[in-house]
Amino acid sequence: MLPLAIGALILSQPAPEPHRPKLVLVISIDQFRGDYPVRFVEHFLPAQSEGKIGGFRYLTERGAYYDDAHYNHIPTETGVGHATIMTGSVPGLTGIIGNDWYDRKTGKTVYCVQDSYASTVGGTSKPMSPKNLLVTTVGDELKMATNGRAKVVSISFKDRASILLAGHAADQVIWFDGGTSNWVTSTFYNSRLPAWVTDLNAKKRPPSELNQVWNPLLPAAEYDLARKPPFQKDSPEPVFSHPLKTIGDWTTSPFGQKFVFDTVKIAIEREGLGRDEVPDVLTVNLATNDYIGHAYGPNSPEVLDITVHTDRLLSDLFTFIDRSIGLQNTTIALTADHGVIPIIEEMANDYKINAARIKTSDLKGAVEAALDAKYGAGDWVQAVDIPNIFLNQATVAAKRLDPEEVENSAGRAIQSLPGIFAVVTRTQIASGNLPRTPWAQRVTNGFNPQMSGDIFVINSPGTYFGTGRGTGHGSAWEYDGYVPIILAGFGIQPGLRHEQVFVNDIAPTLSRLLKIVAPSGNVGRVLPGALK
Ligand SMILES: [Zn+2]
Repeated sequence: MLPLAIGALILSQPAPEPHRPKLVLVISIDQFRGDYPVRFVEHFLPAQSEGKIGGFRYLTERGAYYDDAHYNHIPTETGVGHATIMTGSVPGLTGIIGNDWYDRKTGKTVYCVQDSYASTVGGTSKPMSPKNLLVTTVGDELKMATNGRAKVVSISFKDRASILLAGHAADQVIWFDGGTSNWVTSTFYNSRLPAWVTDLNAKKRPPSELNQVWNPLLPAAEYDLARKPPFQKDSPEPVFSHPLKTIGDWTTSPFGQKFVFDTVKIAIEREGLGRDEVPDVLTVNLATNDYIGHAYGPNSPEVLDITVHTDRLLSDLFTFIDRSIGLQNTTIALTADHGVIPIIEEMANDYKINAARIKTSDLKGAVEAALDAKYGAGDWVQAVDIPNIFLNQATVAAKRLDPEEVENSAGRAIQSLPGIFAVVTRTQIASGNLPRTPWAQRVTNGFNPQMSGDIFVINSPGTYFGTGRGTGHGSAWEYDGYVPIILAGFGIQPGLRHEQVFVNDIAPTLSRLLKIVAPSGNVGRVLPGALK
């Protein structure tokens, strides 16, 4: 009787719960500050209604929403942020210390994903790869843990976003080649584009959508809380009206954004993502939000408009995933690579806030003058690559000077300039001689002993290194480092959480869900309360 009893016992066991998500979808909205998911909430679709899944409100109301999430590094730039999201690491460890950086060995500036040993597949742009990313991603670890069977796919207009979210072992990593209007990849990943990408390129959709006009989605009165950028105050249009004359105009419009979402849906279908019990990872960066934010500023009607478009596009994507894979089988993570500072002239002139633009060339001039005066004429500055200043080590050695003393002299010269909050020297960082403040921690995290410069420049809150009429990001301060972290779906405990958390915490959280080791440079922790 015993064998039969055991058999009955086994038969009566319920089917085991699936223990991993079928798909992890990571969405990084480029330049999407932490206030945006609530600031524009009145314009968003409901979380769920009549069988349709919402966009942002589906995530914030049905997911785990961390509304005090930050970057803990500088510079707060696109390459640096995307190298953080799926590694759980910091720039000093990832090796991605800027969108580009000065390389002392070659005397040249390096773009974060450039790779002269690779070739571009499908387009004419410069060759790219993750060669400069020194650590693994969640995707890399998942590939190793599944004998390569997990699929890892990444999509963005921007090469650096697509590549740095994906990592090294990914199956398909595509980005947009402005010259040909094609999706392209690198021979680092594949020698050929998959058929679904070639098919899509053959349709020549981007050029076919030129000469349309980006007009507001909502009635004019809905833009009352937005403010026209200073350089557009005299324009006659009621809100805005942007003809799409170039491919650049198109990527800086909802038409470009929709193209990315359509590509994501095709990728899910044609790559067969989320179809079997081996989890897959799909990373997506929405670069249009950044292009628009740079051009018009965070308070503009354009940023409100693209955010509402993004809400509708997210809703459409989530509904698509619910029907094909099931949202209950999918874990969604949404975050951003950095925030943004309001347009300087708007702050200074319209609101009388202390705000100013800083010219990078002023820094070099100040250091050269101070060191000439103190040590005699010389070629003192090799490169200024904010936040790094590289002193000319040959000049320091030829004059038999103490590098620490020269760093201090150069630092004092920069510190005296308007708009500079603090200066930290290489020796200070190496010896741990820094104030115990959050901004000093961000400096240390951004520092790589082999790659970084001799002086680290911290500009004051409200200042921006950049001329021209738009705005940007990069600083150590709240507006640049504050981003949303929202997780939803498989394995996630819903709730609004106010604990301070960091973007480094996303990768270890996803790793725990996927039952894999966190990436090699991880310094984050599992988001408190995120997992069931
Ligand atoms: Zn960015």
